[in-house]
Amino acid sequence: MKITRIELYQVDLPYAGGVYHLSGGREYRSFDATMVRILTDTGLEGWGESTPFGSTYIASHALGARAGIAEIAPHLLGRDPRQVDRIYDAMDHALVGHNHAKSAIDLACWDLFGKSVGLPVCELLGGSTGKRLPVISSIHAEAPEAMRANVARHRELGYLGHSIKIGALDSEGGPVLDAERIKASLADQKPGEFFIVDANGGLTPELALRVLRLLPEGLDFVLEAPCKTWRETKSLRRRCEVPIFLDEMVQQDEDLVLAVSEDLADGFGLKISKAGGLTRGRRHRDIGVAAGLTMSVQETVGSTIAFAAIAHLGATVPERHLRCILDTRDMVAITTADFDAPIIDGGVLVPNSPGLGIRVYQNVLGQPLQVWGD
Ligand SMILES: [Mg+2]
Repeated sequence: MKITRIELYQVDLPYAGGVYHLSGGREYRSFDATMVRILTDTGLEGWGESTPFGSTYIASHALGARAGIAEIAPHLLGRDPRQVDRIYDAMDHALVGHNHAKSAIDLACWDLFGKSVGLPVCELLGGSTGKRLPVISSIHAEAPEAMRANVARHRELGYLGHSIKIGALDSEGGPVLDAERIKASLADQKPGEFFIVDANGGLTPELALRVLRLLPEGLDFVLEAPCKTWRETKSLRRRCEVPIFLDEMVQQDEDLVLAVSEDLADGFGLKISKAGGLTRGRRHRDIGVAAGLTMSVQETVGSTIAFAAIAHLGATVPERHLRCILDTRDMVAITTADFDAPIIDGGVLVPNSPGLGIRVYQNVLGQPLQVWGD
């Protein structure tokens, strides 16, 4: 099998909840998605997506994703997409870093690999555990009672987990507001539900410790990405009894290795485009399992194509290491593909169809922005 043509698409994905508020006063209304279609000499095609969470979340942005793909694509024509590690070598040879650009191509290669052998991607990644994957909501930061209502709405939809965003600036209410947000969001916690309190790197150790000291004893949650830097995280970790997950700080393999070797976290957010796709995500999964970490398999955001990749990787994480997967479909107002994975009993099962198991709605994507090859 050889790659004959690579097509690049762009779609705006409006946030389904209006305005998404994140720590540090960051706001997001719409997400700029990049899709890749790879065609081959067999007639099979593969799809991938990379959608950064705006340009103020991590060091990735949509224009960068597309510029990176343009840098890489000419080097992939004529190669066998099923050699995912060798494709990655070629991408690294063409462009240093830029995980989010490589991710869309990598997903399309795995989709092709699965289709070429008639197996779902999760089977190629090691095999599905067969367990229903618990989905987690993404509850953006706003007034405490509004967050409580948003949790309740997702509870009604069957979500077992909730990612509660905090990280108020002093001018917005500081630690007092954040503590109220956490208390309100957890107020109706049901048996079996879990909560991730996520500051997205927005707190200093001082602010984080103040938030924690304002909370009553016995609240059941993990604290995700409290701080922006390794130094701050290390300092907080020493003085904090709450389990800590890392997210934005873990991008490269070496970030995860550092987190393990320095014992800086109990778990991490495995976001596929942040890691650089399924090829690198698979490695992060294995490092995490070997280190006894819990992981939540997610994306920086994305449409159904991105969610399919989340579900396939999530399906291969042993149950005791899988905290949850993020259902990005719930976050965006546009559906880009058919993917038969409804939420039932708080979780989803990956459909048993080849590749990523998606049927892309090309009318939603429109015409390609750029094409390489025949
Ligand atoms: Mg997070």
